[in-house]
Amino acid sequence: MNRIEKVCIFCGSSAGGNGLYVDAARRVGLELARRNIGLVYGGGGIGLMGAAAHAVIEAGGSVTGVIPHSLATKERALESDFDQHIELKVVKTMHERKALMTRLSDAFIALPGGLGTFDELFEALTWAQLGIHRKPIGLLNVAGYFDPLLDMLDRATGEGFIQPRYRRLVLVATVIDDLFEQLSNYTPPESIVQWVELEES
Ligand code: AMP
Repeated sequence: MNRIEKVCIFCGSSAGGNGLYVDAARRVGLELARRNIGLVYGGGGIGLMGAAAHAVIEAGGSVTGVIPHSLATKERALESDFDQHIELKVVKTMHERKALMTRLSDAFIALPGGLGTFDELFEALTWAQLGIHRKPIGLLNVAGYFDPLLDMLDRATGEGFIQPRYRRLVLVATVIDDLFEQLSNYTPPESIVQWVELEES
């Protein structure tokens, strides 16, 4: 069993077109608080990100937002109430942000989102493939949102672009409890490069 004290969530800064997405983000937030697991995320109060973070705060859990300086000054002045309840870490660049979010967390969960979410999910997967980290990466497939993306991964695996052991890096669930169970039971694959330090990558 992996000890999971903090989970990093990647999800939309928009709410998306189906109410089930916001609902799922809230339920994940409530579940994190219930399990006494801290949330690490991109620091925004909007969209699914905000829904997850607000739910954790409401349930008395801990939230760490990691935000680059440029986004912090642009958006955060509007959210001072929200800021009182989260630990905000302001970093210089988007790259530093992802590195810090990775370092602070024991596992990752992706929820529906757009380019930012895809970028974060795929970077976490690529870094797992390289052995830069050995943390579990789960995807909550709300209302089949990720079906085409999973099909694409299968296609890339079938065509020999992704090795089957790395295809298995993506833990997929439709039910939150199942996702947490998979994260807890995850065993990392043998990577090409073992334990590359974040700083060297
Ligand atoms: P997207 O899926 O394109 O909406 O991007 C969401 C992801 O990118 C989140 O997981 C955040 O870490 C990051 N992100 C994108 N936009 C923002 C924003 N306005 N404030 C904070 N983080 C953001």
